[in-house]
Amino acid sequence: MLDSTPSGRPSRAVRALALLALAALWTTACSAPGGAPNGDPTAAPPLPGPEDGEGGGDGADGGEDSSAPRGDGPLGDRVVVIDPGHNGGNADAPSEINAQVPAGNGEKACDTVGAESVNGYAEHEFNWDLSLLVKERLEADGVTVILTREDNEGVGPCVDERAEIGNENEADAALSIHADGGPESGRGFHLITPGEIPGLTEEIVEPSALLAEDIRREYLEGGDVPYADYLADEGLDERTDLGGLNLSTVPKVFLEAGNMRNPEDAALLEDPEWRERAADAIARGMAAYLMRG
Ligand SMILES: [Zn+2]
Repeated sequence: MLDSTPSGRPSRAVRALALLALAALWTTACSAPGGAPNGDPTAAPPLPGPEDGEGGGDGADGGEDSSAPRGDGPLGDRVVVIDPGHNGGNADAPSEINAQVPAGNGEKACDTVGAESVNGYAEHEFNWDLSLLVKERLEADGVTVILTREDNEGVGPCVDERAEIGNENEADAALSIHADGGPESGRGFHLITPGEIPGLTEEIVEPSALLAEDIRREYLEGGDVPYADYLADEGLDERTDLGGLNLSTVPKVFLEAGNMRNPEDAALLEDPEWRERAADAIARGMAAYLMRG
């Protein structure tokens, strides 16, 4: 249905500046899509390259471009895996997606079909749409972004493979993007973090919690969605039953961006303009995490 093809947007440079502002001001919630000037001349495409020596702490507003980090700005050497949950072909491939795969502390189905909004907007499509927008924003700051699937027409990959993609690429962080299919009366977002499983997740529990904090803060601020009121605790839920987290060796969280079954949340999730804002917020949260060190 709604398509948000990630073609080169004129506001890319503006978003890069928004991230820069975050680098400088850290806690300041800059409303990225709002007031940024449109005539920004920093039109050079974000090309990764190991050259920027920016220490990150310059004040001011980064408004002049000569020194403004381009693609390889403060995040130029970072790798992020974005995992759009589910896939458009899953519903037609029950035997494939129901196959049991390793989940770290047991086995789980390869994948699931996902939720659907009250108006028929499929979660796999939402996840895909939003993931592309987040990818675009992070790439504008030089981050190398790897998606776990190529399109929204295929099947899978299985949850263990999704984790493996982050591991193989030695990602600095991985984010799995979903929307929930909760009770109609409940709304809000939450982030799922890996709980400690001895011999498995010890290394990623702490950094993943930081990643969740950074995304939670920015998403709450910029996404207009409250903390989930039907589960989790102030938007955070630690779990040990998700193969996609248990098998990750890199910091990883799931974002449940809202509740597709709730009309209020669904109206946001279905709105392409809202998704742009949500992607801004998620990218800011991810950038904040990457800039931790
Ligand atoms: Zn999902």
